[in-house]
Amino acid sequence: MYCLGIESTAHTFGCGVVSNKPSDGAICTVLSNESKMYKPVEGGIHPREAANHHANVAGDVVSAALERAGISAKDLDLVAFSQGPGLGPCLRTGATAARALALSLDIPIIGVNHCIAHLEIGRATTGCRDPVMLYTSGANTQVIAFAEGKYRVFGETLDVGIGNALDKFGRDLGIPFPAGPAIETMALKSKNYIPLPYCVKGMDVTFSGLMTAAFNLAEKNGIVFGTKPRQHENSLLNDLCYSLQETAFAALVEVTERAMAHTEKNEVLMAGGVARNRRLCEMAKIMAEARGAQCFVPPASLCTDNGAMIAWTGIVMHRSGVRMKLKDTQINQKFRTDDVEVKWRKNGNGGSI
Ligand code: AMP
Ligand code: MG
Repeated sequence: MYCLGIESTAHTFGCGVVSNKPSDGAICTVLSNESKMYKPVEGGIHPREAANHHANVAGDVVSAALERAGISAKDLDLVAFSQGPGLGPCLRTGATAARALALSLDIPIIGVNHCIAHLEIGRATTGCRDPVMLYTSGANTQVIAFAEGKYRVFGETLDVGIGNALDKFGRDLGIPFPAGPAIETMALKSKNYIPLPYCVKGMDVTFSGLMTAAFNLAEKNGIVFGTKPRQHENSLLNDLCYSLQETAFAALVEVTERAMAHTEKNEVLMAGGVARNRRLCEMAKIMAEARGAQCFVPPASLCTDNGAMIAWTGIVMHRSGVRMKLKDTQINQKFRTDDVEVKWRKNGNGGSI
């Protein structure tokens, strides 16, 4: 089966083609994974502007994905799209493109939960079977694991996602979006830990207090550069980036470890754009090894928001018997991970796929 997946929850319009044909040499074969990212000139992501961006690039990205996959639209058997959670206007643009394709090609359509797609592409490409997933992206930050027929959220951010927190900190200091990679580079230049608020509440985390404290320190020491991007060479800024990462990532790894202990699972799967951060992955690996568990990290292109993960999850759902009518394809901005009946995993230890 060839499935085309469309991702459009926030900044990225992505389109991937995935096949599960045994002749392609693997169960999950990513044939293409194309994307274009909306980058605000100033400030954070504006939903309407991001949606306009997606509408403008949709045709090109879909064509590029088909071309790279070496197939034509009429070879497709299924269309999948991100149904939520995400920004309404962005989700609607992706859903509309997916409906148009499914209707014109007369093939089935499946709406996919974006968070679950991160988990399924991780399972399919890293070899882990029943992980606790530490999902750290721009808008979402959750610790998710399978239990009794559903993917359950064991812990999550109570305010902003860790990626948005890093981007906001960067924005306040004049570091362009997305700031996560620049913060990682600056953090590598320091080993000087400045104490910052460590906020774990039960199984949940919060980041806004941490970010405010870091920003206040930056401001007090005159290292706020305004909105214009510029070269940052400042040792206190390096120390702040280092300390911010150490504090936020330690909190995330602590909650993940507790979820592993509670569920008695021995795999941790990294997912989301922030999982591209080597220090976060290193901390998760140290934690996993200390408890005799394993840490799995998908390739960077499958960690961040992407169409291939949506396509693969569409195949997984379709194979388990999920079918949707057009009226079932409305987007859901607040689509919860545990709203989905996970029919494709019967026994909780890896299931049939
Ligand atoms: P996503 O929403 O999953 O596509 O992830 C996007 C987020 O990942 C943005 O907030 C980026 O700042 C963040 N990000 C990307 N690369 C890194 C990195 N190396 N370190 C920290 N954050 C990162
Ligand atoms: Mg995501």
